[in-house]
Amino acid sequence: MLTVTEFESIKAIKGTFKLGGVRMNVYLYLVDELLIDSGPKRLQKEILNYLSQETYNQIFFTHHHEDHTGNASVLNTNVPTYIHPIGIQLCEQKPHLPFYRRVFWGSRKPFTPAPIERQLQTKHHTFELIHTPGHAPDHLALLEKEKGWLFTGDLYVMSHPKSIFAFESIPDVIKSLEKVLTYDFDTVFCSHAGILPNGRRRLEEKLHYLRSVQDQVLKKYNDGKPASLIQKELFPSKHILNYFSLFENSSKHIVTSIINKGGSR
Ligand SMILES: [Zn+2]
Repeated sequence: MLTVTEFESIKAIKGTFKLGGVRMNVYLYLVDELLIDSGPKRLQKEILNYLSQETYNQIFFTHHHEDHTGNASVLNTNVPTYIHPIGIQLCEQKPHLPFYRRVFWGSRKPFTPAPIERQLQTKHHTFELIHTPGHAPDHLALLEKEKGWLFTGDLYVMSHPKSIFAFESIPDVIKSLEKVLTYDFDTVFCSHAGILPNGRRRLEEKLHYLRSVQDQVLKKYNDGKPASLIQKELFPSKHILNYFSLFENSSKHIVTSIINKGGSR
């Protein structure tokens, strides 16, 4: 199901679905004929149907993951598509997705976007691109300085994550949050949490939380505790997604990504 809300000149296109007990929202944004992300294949019919009534003359992908690029190959092929240079090769390959992600989002067909790194121009806006790895190596945030808008892809999603994916890195997310917070902005447009009018505060909250988790992990690690014990002490409960993903999504990866980068033992 799709619902569309407007914020100033931005259309927030929200797709919702449920699988098992897990409910997910995913957002695409349309601003000044720029489409930001293309949504998962699972919502293809609805998204194509909606976009057939809209005009877009360029498509930007915040990163290569299948819930952002899933419909790239079926959208208007005359329109240029852009991603960070690291993402190109990843989009040209057929993704090797774990079973649960294939079921959840649907897979994506390979496609070849053009590289972009610094700036994206639309008719009325200039977007600065900010490389923000941690969730994905090719992750870019888009900043509209005049308006104070920041499109954050999957950098935010939530303030207090208790588990992450095996491919994510907490120290890198911390660095990326620090980087975007050096810029001026108020409103955040997140790919899963939607429009956050007090977005700056939400990003600060997340940074604060992750720094505190990092400090606690490193302290315990330097006291001689193994990763499995640190995980048990800091994150005693498990979430349904942990089981559902066969622990590709787990608090374990929070602990190990911190130890791998910062452990001095
Ligand atoms: Zn992602």
